[in-house]
Amino acid sequence: NLSQRLKTVADFVPKNSRVADIGSDHAYLPVYLMKQNQIEFGIASEVAKGPLENAKQEILSEGLSDKIDTRLADGLLSINKEDNINCVTIAGMGGTLIRQILDNGKNHLNGNEVLVLQPNVGENRLRTWLMNNHYEIKDETILREDGHTYEIIVAEKVNHDVKYSEQELQFGPFLLKQHSEVFVEKWQNEINRIEMVIDQMNQAKKEKPIEKIKKMKDDINSIKEVL
Ligand code: SAM
Repeated sequence: NLSQRLKTVADFVPKNSRVADIGSDHAYLPVYLMKQNQIEFGIASEVAKGPLENAKQEILSEGLSDKIDTRLADGLLSINKEDNINCVTIAGMGGTLIRQILDNGKNHLNGNEVLVLQPNVGENRLRTWLMNNHYEIKDETILREDGHTYEIIVAEKVNHDVKYSEQELQFGPFLLKQHSEVFVEKWQNEINRIEMVIDQMNQAKKEKPIEKIKKMKDDINSIKEVL
């Protein structure tokens, strides 16, 4: 049974596409997509041998070995021109790692791929990379599952400049507009977390880090602006 998180990632994969799932581990995502008849071809790509074995097993046991390839490679280096990939999914990692994977493998993208990205943290840095590399954010969503909050970012390359404000980079241009319950909850929790840290700092007997506390209060205010 696929997690709600991966099901939601799957929702953003275009119908009949050819997908490369980078960091696929058990290949649950491409297997699900193929069983739904949502994709024509899939690559389950892994940098580590253990997870690649998991992927092979899963694909084999679902009888999909002729439709989903497994590849051992670092990030996007598993994608070749002949694969005609038009959708890349990268899920379940930190935003910094996703950013690194995209940056290291830029040459393996043809610019026509839809990127469906699900960073666990570090969304801000990932959006900044997209902006700086002519990727426009086409859609976003946020969901909560098992006590975790996940953001999903869909982006496509465009041939004009892309510019997002600091606020859009931090909160997500679409998520800001959607202003969903999960979004408000996520950022209210973040305010609570920062306030607790400030309280602890104020209670400490030693000299208080005034600058740090001021910075954290600014952070709280910029969150309050969007709630
Ligand atoms: N994508 C699946 C999901 O969302 O449930 C699995 C996520 S798992 C936490 C992250 C996987 O990414 C690991 O199996 C790890 O080996 C793989 N990974 C990390 N860095 C990678 C890279 N540079 N290239 C390919 N895979 C990578």
